[in-house]
Amino acid sequence: MTATIPQPAHAGVDEPEPFLEINDLETHYTDGSLLNQQPPVRAVDGVSLTVRRGETLGLVGESGCGKTTLGRTLVGLESATAGSVTVDGTDVTELSGENLRDWQRRVGMVFQDPQESLNDRQTVGEIVAEPLDAHDWQTPADREERVFSLLEQVGLQDEHFYRYPHQFSGGQRQRVGIARALALEPEFLILDEPVSALDVSVQARVINLLEDLQAELGLTSLFIAHDLSLVRHIADRVAVMYLGTVLEVGPTERVFDDPANPYTRSLLSAIPGSSSPAPDDLDRITLRGTPPNPRHPPEGCPFATRCPAKIRPAAHPDISAEALAAIEAFRAVLRERSRASEGLSTRLKRRLGLATSGRAVDAIVAELFADVGLSPEARDVIDRAATRARTAPGEALTLLTEEFGSVCDREPPAAHAVDDTDRTSRCLRHRADEESPGGDRRD
Ligand code: SF4
Repeated sequence: MTATIPQPAHAGVDEPEPFLEINDLETHYTDGSLLNQQPPVRAVDGVSLTVRRGETLGLVGESGCGKTTLGRTLVGLESATAGSVTVDGTDVTELSGENLRDWQRRVGMVFQDPQESLNDRQTVGEIVAEPLDAHDWQTPADREERVFSLLEQVGLQDEHFYRYPHQFSGGQRQRVGIARALALEPEFLILDEPVSALDVSVQARVINLLEDLQAELGLTSLFIAHDLSLVRHIADRVAVMYLGTVLEVGPTERVFDDPANPYTRSLLSAIPGSSSPAPDDLDRITLRGTPPNPRHPPEGCPFATRCPAKIRPAAHPDISAEALAAIEAFRAVLRERSRASEGLSTRLKRRLGLATSGRAVDAIVAELFADVGLSPEARDVIDRAATRARTAPGEALTLLTEEFGSVCDREPPAAHAVDDTDRTSRCLRHRADEESPGGDRRD
């Protein structure tokens, strides 16, 4: 998905210089089997982002949206299949051998689960020294001294050098992981859900440590998380990711105070309680269903199958929100049915939360449209689609898409500048000829 990003009037004024520029980055996976030629999984699918020197960029989104794969691609742990990541004029996705090692030396990575990411058969001293050994950093005596100094820097004691990870609490293990990430004095830190596996009481202490280190060392950071309150607290800017692409990016306070993209609005509004980072006047929106299969992303807007603000079909401008939601669910059933070779009922249940096991299409349609008012014309199309779906679900899907699909199903939205900051959002409603993303919600 390629996007042109209109530049806001103030762009380039008083902004820190870019450390890393991501352009149309893709990381796709094929399963490599000759017998089962499936389309690739589009884990990262056209991400364009800038990470500025000295900033913390928060990367948020639902589980499976591609956040972790993006972080791993930046450091060369996954191979990009297209696009570029430019640092100091070099595309680091093209590096190999010694040049790749040099780049990886400039990046520290902290992983989500300190239990998993630390080798229980090594002492803490050995774990923290690992990157120093791997890069043959100075002399063995210098390395040992460096490890003691790192332990102190992350709030551990000298005596911890000789202990094993299983002798530590979760918070202490994550401190070990942070010490290891800092060993080679990186310029860039990728923090992949660094506190989500920790008790709430421990999270704050680790976050304080990360903030102190950031200030002390002047690091540039990518902070990957699904906890929006945490990201609001720690990030200078935030990027909101969905189905392998970034739908909104901008200064943290602006994005949280006045989310521009329907997906950002949905994510924020889903957080209950007084500690929610959502603005007070944001309507609560229920996000229906789950994201589409990343092997088969929608042709138009990635969020089109769930968007509560989706632009209505030209042929049915007055159709109700409930009817559109039921049609969207019917289309999801048909999409699955036209692709499924086995295990259909399980997949349907998982996707829709419906008791579809062993049911015929007629029963699914009856359930979906039981309390939904439809015009005679719309009802006729649904009946024809249901009849066709018994033998040709792909044709039924085409019929529904032709009749009830909107521009959101056909056209990938470009990134639009949405205010006087550098914020951008991908939504067709930002175009002058469409309503604003906040209006005309389907529920
Ligand atoms: S382009 Fe359409 S489906 Fe996508 S976010 Fe905007 S209104 Fe929703």
